[in-house]
Formats: sequence, C-alpha cells, structure tokens
Amino acid sequence: MADFGGADLEAFRSEVKTWLEANYPPELRDPEAKTDPEAVWGGRAFEGSDDPQIVWMRRMAEKGWTAPTWPAEYGGGGLSPQQARVLDQELAAGRYRPALLSFGLWMLGPVLLEYGDEAQKKEHLPKIVQGKIRWCQGYSEPGAGSDLAGLQTRCEDKGDHWLINGQKVWTSYANKADWCFCLVRTDPSKKHEGISFVLIDMLTPGVETRPIRLISGESPFCETFFTDVKIPKENLVGRVNGGWEIAKRLLQYERQNISAGFGEGGTAGGAAGDLAQIARRYLGEDANGALAEADLRRRITQNKINFQALRQTIARSAAESKAGNGPSAATSIIKYAAAELAKERSELMIEALGHQGQGWEGEGFSPQEIAAVRGWLRTKANSIEGGTSEINLNVVAKRVLGLPDPK
Ligand SMILES: Cc1cc2nc3c(=O)[nH]c(=O)nc-3n(C[C@H](O)[C@H](O)[C@H](O)COP(=O)(O)OP(=O)(O)OC[C@H]3O[C@@H](n4cnc5c(N)ncnc54)[C@H](O)[C@@H]3O)c2cc1C
Repeated sequence: MADFGGADLEAFRSEVKTWLEANYPPELRDPEAKTDPEAVWGGRAFEGSDDPQIVWMRRMAEKGWTAPTWPAEYGGGGLSPQQARVLDQELAAGRYRPALLSFGLWMLGPVLLEYGDEAQKKEHLPKIVQGKIRWCQGYSEPGAGSDLAGLQTRCEDKGDHWLINGQKVWTSYANKADWCFCLVRTDPSKKHEGISFVLIDMLTPGVETRPIRLISGESPFCETFFTDVKIPKENLVGRVNGGWEIAKRLLQYERQNISAGFGEGGTAGGAAGDLAQIARRYLGEDANGALAEADLRRRITQNKINFQALRQTIARSAAESKAGNGPSAATSIIKYAAAELAKERSELMIEALGHQGQGWEGEGFSPQEIAAVRGWLRTKANSIEGGTSEINLNVVAKRVLGLPDPK
C-alpha cells in the first residue's frame, strides 16, 4: 500500500470524485426513486436483481469500496486510512446513498480478518464485500442478554460435524439473513471459557425464525431456533472454547459502528431537521426572532453543543482506530453518550412539535410529524442494542478507568 499524502491524496480525491459521478445510477438521485428498501442490505434475495441500489452496490463492490480498508486479496479496496477518509468525505459531499449496509461489513468481517483462518477469509470476506450474503447476529438468548456469557445454546462435537440445539432472541433481521454468526456453548462446565464462535448457513435444516411483532407494527427482530442443526467443522472461528475473546472484540466493532451513525453525515438520533427551527415554527418566536420558550431554547442549544462535541470525539476515535489496532473499550464511552444524547434529542423534538408531537397515524398529522413520533419510540432502543447503557458504563469503569469490581 503506497503511503499517500499531500498531492497524491488530492489526485486520489479527484479520481474518486470523477468515478462516483460517472458510476452513480442516475435513478438514485431522485429521492422518490423506486428501489426495494431491503436492497441496500444485499444478500441472496437480490442475486440477479437490476434494482438501481443493487447496481450501485455492485459497482462500488467491484472497486472494493464497500470495504475500503480491507485487503484487496479478500475483495477490499486496499486503501490507506487517509484514502478511505477521502472516499468517505466525497460520498458525504455528493450525498450518495450508502452502497451497502451490512452486519458482515460492520461486525463479522473485521473479526474474521483478526481471528479467521485463511480458508474462512477467502470464503466469506469477498461475499461480504460484494453484498452476496446477508448476515445476522446470534448472541442474545432468553436468559442471556447483559449477562451474555450465560448463554446456553449447545454445540456438540460429533466427530465430522458440530450439532447445535438452542434458542436465540432479538436476532435482528434473522428472517431475511442468509447466514448467522453465533455464540454457542461447547463446554457447559465453564462460563466464559466454554463458549465458541460459529458460522451457520440459515438454510441448514433445523434453523427456524419467528419474527417478533413490536408496538410499532414492525418486526425487525426474530426468535431463532436451532434444532439438531448440523454444521461443518470448518465453520468454527478461532479455537474451541475460545469464542468469548472474539465475541467481545466483535462487540467493540458493533459499538463503534452504532456510534458512527451519530457522527458527521450520520442519520441516527431521532427525526431529521433543525430542532430550533422546527420549535420556532410550531411554538412561536419572541420579539427577537428566537424561540419563545426560553427553557426549551436552552435545552435545545445544550443538546446541539453536546452532539457537536460527540461528533468531534467520534471522528477522533475513528481516526485513532483506523491508524492503530482497531476499536478499544473506549467505544463504550461513545456508545453510551451517543445513545443518551439521541434519546434526549428525540424527546426535545416531541416537545418542539407541541400538540402535533402526539400523532401516530391519521390525517391530522403530516408524514414528518408521524416519523418524528415513531423515531422517538425507536430511540428508546438505542440504550439497549449493542449492550445497554448500564453495561457500557460498567465497561468504562473497569476497562477504561481501571476501577475495581464492587464487592
Ligand atoms: C434494536 C435492537 C436490536 C438488537 N439486535 C440484536 C441482534 O441482532 N442480535 C442479538 O443477539 N441481540 C440483539 N439485541 C439484543 C440486545 O443485545 C439485548 O437486548 C441487550 O444486550 C440487553 O439484554 P436484555 O434485553 O436481555 O436485558 P437484560 O440483560 O435483562 O437487562 C435488563 C436491565 O437490567 C440492566 N442490567 C443488567 N445487568 C446489569 C448489571 N450488571 N449492572 C447494571 N445494570 C444491569 C440492564 O442495563 C437493563 O436495563 C438487540 C436489541 C435491540 C434493542
């Protein structure tokens, strides 16, 4: 990999800009463009599809730019951290849609690069880069959420294969995923040291998913059942009973990725729009043209300042992670702050909308008002997914501040 800097980097920027303009499907410029909302997740369901989103994904994947810093030998872009930043900047500046959203890109790929054997990297990484396989995460179980190491899904060595029996819960999009990266118990006599990390094709006989219907009417999660599921020996990542270390590393990538959604160009954090402007429109202005309600004005300003500080911290920590050994336990600081600020922002949005902030459906409310209310409810999950706020504070106390365990 060349050491790009200065003039080289500017040449690269102009090359990127030209390529993006030439290769972005023109249909996607239209905000009303007819694309399947699931297409951005790729997977087997879209093999052979000519949806413009899939065309975009394939073009970006050919360059390896869906995974810009992964090594080219596994289909990645082989870019330096500086080049990847230029690509990110140009994608944001041109308001290009994401080419691919993927648990494979965000979570599994990085740990396969660290812990996978050569055959696993060759088999799975290119398919992740190309969006050919959609992955889900089989971690939580009915009795194992925050206490993840309490998981019970059994995985037995049957000589020429592994046999899996058990149940996962809250498996996001399991009913749409092609494969699952999964934590299983290979030794019931030990807790953390009895866990292994395996890869399961969701088409294997004995895998069943049941979507869970939420209050919003949507079903983004499933219960996932494994009944006498046979998987090949080579689907174990790392060593038998060595899965806990991989599990924790993957959680750092997950937390980093959830937080990135709150950074520059991110879309998370409740409904879109400038809070102060919206509040002025709904609640009125004082003689100086400022929001009439002084207390709300103060809280909106404080939230904006805190978000700006968070964005700077996310950018600094992402740069440190790209330049060093990947994310660290400090991702828990950002995940905690991002979740709490996002919840606060969406609460403020509801206040800013006044009486219109009570609409769930119906003609009395605009689509933006309904989206704000539904977004408010969704942010409640921000401090649960990827590890709860309390658990992230525990990680910060132990691993960042080095405080002792309470007796
Ligand atoms: C949107 C969303 C998507 C998700 N997607 C997935 C997925 O794809 N795959 C997957 O495997 N899981 C997924 N999950 C599950 C998620 O990881 C768990 O919900 C989470 O880890 C918490 O576990 P739990 O729900 O069992 O709560 P519990 O662990 O039962 O916690 C209940 C409460 O007790 C608190 N608590 C527990 N232990 C402690 C402690 N030691 N100290 C202080 N407080 C404590 C918690 O903070 C929480 O407030 C998802 C969850 C959400 C909300």
